[in-house]
Order: sequence, then structure tokens, then C-alpha cells
Amino acid sequence: MSAKETKQVDRAWPVIRVYAKALGKYPGLLTAVLIGSLTLEVAAIGAPLYLRELIDFLAAHPQPQTAVIGSALGILALYGLIAFIRTMGSNVQGVASSYLDARVMSDLSNSAFRNLLGHSHDFFISNFAGALTRRVSRYASAFEQIFDTLVFNIFSTVVFAIGAIAVLLNRSVVLGTVLLIWTILFLLLQIALTKWKQPIRVARAAADTRVTGVLSDAISNQSTISQFAASRYERKIFGETMEYWRKATLRAWISDAWVSGIQGIFVVIIQVALLGGAVVLWQRGEVSVGDFVLIQIYILGLIDRIWNMGNSMRRLYEAFADAHEMVAIIEKPYGVRDLPDAMPLKVTEGRIDMGHVSFGFGEKDVLKDFTLAIAAGEKVALVGPSGAGKSTVTKLLLRLYDVTAGSISIDGQDIARVTQESLREAIAFVPQEPILFHRSLMDNIRYGRRDATDEEVYEAARQARCHDFIAALSDGYETHVGERGVKLSGGERQRVAIARAILKNAPILILDEATSSLDSESESLIQEALEVLMKGKTVVVIAHRLSTIMHMDRIIVMEQGRIVAGGTHDELLDHKGGLYHKLWSIQAGSFIADTTPT
Ligand code: ADP
Repeated sequence: MSAKETKQVDRAWPVIRVYAKALGKYPGLLTAVLIGSLTLEVAAIGAPLYLRELIDFLAAHPQPQTAVIGSALGILALYGLIAFIRTMGSNVQGVASSYLDARVMSDLSNSAFRNLLGHSHDFFISNFAGALTRRVSRYASAFEQIFDTLVFNIFSTVVFAIGAIAVLLNRSVVLGTVLLIWTILFLLLQIALTKWKQPIRVARAAADTRVTGVLSDAISNQSTISQFAASRYERKIFGETMEYWRKATLRAWISDAWVSGIQGIFVVIIQVALLGGAVVLWQRGEVSVGDFVLIQIYILGLIDRIWNMGNSMRRLYEAFADAHEMVAIIEKPYGVRDLPDAMPLKVTEGRIDMGHVSFGFGEKDVLKDFTLAIAAGEKVALVGPSGAGKSTVTKLLLRLYDVTAGSISIDGQDIARVTQESLREAIAFVPQEPILFHRSLMDNIRYGRRDATDEEVYEAARQARCHDFIAALSDGYETHVGERGVKLSGGERQRVAIARAILKNAPILILDEATSSLDSESESLIQEALEVLMKGKTVVVIAHRLSTIMHMDRIIVMEQGRIVAGGTHDELLDHKGGLYHKLWSIQAGSFIADTTPT
């Protein structure tokens, strides 16, 4: 086996294991599919035997007497019965596999989705959303592809080929052996032709992708094209791409024609060889006229099943590769896990203790021996230059990552030992650039507490200063906000996120202040909303604009993963030449003259 083939087998096993487990939940339906398929193929082998008998019977009775016709009709009735059974087998197979495919595919999608949501923050920032979406959807569709190919193509071909060869061997060892050898050769030919066609097919697919890429690039840059009067230039690029596509497509189509031609020659050879052999045997009285019909039907049946076997095998490989992409994710251990004996966090006051915490991303150390105690109800701001580690502190508090040393506790309970769900229920987090679901505003705000009444949602929206702008929308709270909330301005999105956090009413609040330049009206509305939100909570704010945090209980100044100073705004400003003073001078400009204590 080549290295590539070994890799394909290595990939196939985990997929088979997962799919077999999913199938195992429906033993009744699976049995029905297999019995249906088996019945179909056995009847497909059996029915022509009665046709042969009928022809032989008619050939032996050239005089159409009534008794003869009666017997002939009797044989025909048996043929009809078996043909009927074959149709029934086909129906059972079709209906049962439809039920089975639909159920297993929906189970697989559900389990993939459940698994995906359990992965850590790091996993999601390391994988593109589009790629993950594709993996989940292909995981289910690959099952259909694999199961249908195995049952409808491979299983049915094997049963039919074994049956046809066995019947012919029984009639004549020579004819049976010829069919056996031909079947093997035809399969080998198929595999060889499919391998030969593979690079041509890949080039064709690449050409398709290139056309789509050039098209979408041009469409999304339409305004640039028109500003630079470049439509002729773009037409030239597109024309060249289409020329490349034309050549690749033609090569693929011509190779298809070659494949069909070569297969066709093989079909003629087997027909001539078998029927020719049968003529010789008939002359010796070893086979009957009816056998000619039998041979012809079996050859056609076999060709029908084997003709596309190469493509089926290729689709099977592709489906295994698609499925493996999701199985690899399913088998990947979660980055952040609940301990087996994890208990729910019980927040009584909201005190936070970070003791000697160290953490880094890979090789890169971000926090080093970081110690910070925040009293219940205290409002603390983290400030410092970009990259100082402020967001990292909040990510560790939310346990999006586990610390490498030290510990973080809330009201004396180590957050690594409580359930992640209870931890995140106890903390409301308002990110810098909130992303909203493409659902109604009502649903987006209610996300803070999914059992909140409409009245409670309105009240939270009022407190977050977003009721007025929502009420002014034509669909009000039922307005859908577009993918990721793009239909709202930055300030509006922020207030919706604040409303959601107000509704959640968690004892601890983490806030990543918006840096995006908000107009002063939005900014003052946000400040009002935040004041409501912060009331009575333990608060950690990542501050980007120092003017907004002057009234916090304590300001922690961070630099390169360490705390370099801490105190109130006034205390910190007193320390001339300190980092806070420097940052304040840069940001506040003339404003500093009014606020610096004299
Ligand atoms: P701040 O919030 O103070 O601007 P961060 O906590 O975001 O700083 O980042 C601290 C350091 O960690 C930065 O140098 C940043 O580049 C790095 N960092 C942040 N997130 C990641 C990540 N997911 N992978 C690798 N490095 C990261």
C-alpha cells in the first residue's frame, strides 16, 4: 500500500467507528435496508432464470397447444412473482434508507453541533467560522454519500456479481469462469481509468473555483473597477480565466469520452466472448437457447452496476475525507474542561482573587506572577499600553483559558474547580465590539435571561438607553439586525449588549470598553447605561479612554503583563513621571489642566 493509501485507511477507521455507532441506534431500519437490498439483488438474479425456462419451454414445444400455453403462462406467473418481489425489495430498501439517512444525518448534525459548542475560545479563534460550518454540514452529507454508495453500489454489485457468476458456473464452468475473469478485469480497468482521470478532474474543479474567485472579486470590487475605468482590463482577466476553464473542461469531457469508449469496448468483448462460447456449447448440446437470454441479462445487469464503480469509489474516498475533518474535531479533547467533580460556583459577595497567576500563549509569556485582589462590589479599571495583558486578565477570569500557574478564585472558590457554566452565569461580559445574532432585537436582548418577560426586556432596554431607538424602528423589537448585527451602529450595538447584561444581572461584570470612535451623544448614552449596569456589582473594566474611568474605586496600571501601579485616579496622577501620568497626558491633552489636582 502506498503512503497515501495508508493515510486514507487511517482516516477511514475513525469515521467508520463514529458512523457505525450512529447507525447502531436504528437496528430495525438498518436490517430493513439490508434485507431490502438482498431481496432486490437475489430476485434480480432469480427472475431471468424463469425467462430462460420459458424460452426453453417454448423452443421445445413449437406447436401452440392449449396445455402448452397453460404451462408457459404458469412459468410466466412465477417470473412475474419474482419480478414483483424484486420491486418490493427495491421499495423497502428505498423507503427504509430514506428514514435511516434522514434520522442519522440529523443525529450526526446535532452531535457535531453539541461537540463544537463545547470547544474552547482558543479553538474558535484558531478556526474560520466558514470552515467549521462546512465541516458540520459535510459531516452529515458524507454519511449519506458513504452509506448509499456502500449499500446501493458496492453491496448490490457484490451480491449480483456473485449470484450471476454462481448461476453461470452452474450452467457451464467455462462461461462462469469467463464472466468471473471479465468482472475482475473490468473492475481493475475502472480503477486504473479513475486514477488516470483524477488529475484531470482536479484541474477542472480548480478551474471552476478560479472562475468563481475572479467573478466574486470583481463583483465585490465593482466600485473600484468603475472608479479606475478598468472594465476592459477586468474583462481581459476574466476572458483569460474562461480560456483556462475552457481548456480544463474540454480535457475533462474528452477524457470522459475516452473512458466510456474503452469501457464500451470491454462490454463488446464480453458479449461476443460469452455468447460465442455459448454458441459452441449449444452446438454440443451443453446449453440451451434460453441460456443466451440469461447470459445477456446478466451481462447487462453487471455492466449497469459496474459501469460507474470507479466514480463511486472516488466519491467514497472524498466522503471519507470530508467526514474525517469533523471526526478529527470530535476526537480532539476540549481545551478547557470541567473537572469530573466540578461543583457549581456559589457567589455570595463577588470577591475576586488572582494569586500569582502566570499565563502565556504558546511560547509567549503574557502574565507573570500576577496578583490582584478585588473586593466585593469594588469597581476596578485596568489600564496600560496595548499588549500589556489587560484582555488576557479578563479572559482568564472568564476561564476562556486555564492559567499555567497560580489560581483565580471567586468568593474563595477556585474557578478551575467549578463548572464553566456556573462561572459564566455569574459573570456578565460586555465586549468591545458586541456581535449580535441575526435574530430580532427582542431575542438578542432576551439572551441575557432567556425566561425574561417582554416587560422585563423593555425595562432593561430603557435602562440601557436603547428603548427609544428600537421603538423608532419600523418593526420595533421585532427588527432583525442583520448578520452579526451590521444593521446597527457601533453605539447602538453596544447599548443592546448592555441591555442584555442588565437583564442577566450577574454579580460580577467585565467590561471591555469600546475604543471605536463613538459620537459624543452615543458615548454619553453608553456612559449612562453603564452606570446603571455597574450598580451593586463587582466590576472589572478594560479602559481605553482614561476620561471614562476617573471615578472608579481603583485603577490598575499594567505593563508587559505586570502591575506597575495601582490607586485612585488622583493618587496615580500625583505620581508625576509614572506610566499613568504619561498615558493621561497623551490622552487628555488640554483636558488635563482642568482635572490635575493642584
Ligand atoms: P491588551 O488587552 O493589554 O492590549 P492582550 O491581553 O490582548 O493585551 O494581549 C497580551 C499579549 O498577548 C499581546 O502581546 C498579544 O499579542 C498576545 N495575545 C493575545 N491573544 C493571543 C492569542 N490568542 N494568541 C497568541 N497571542 C496572543
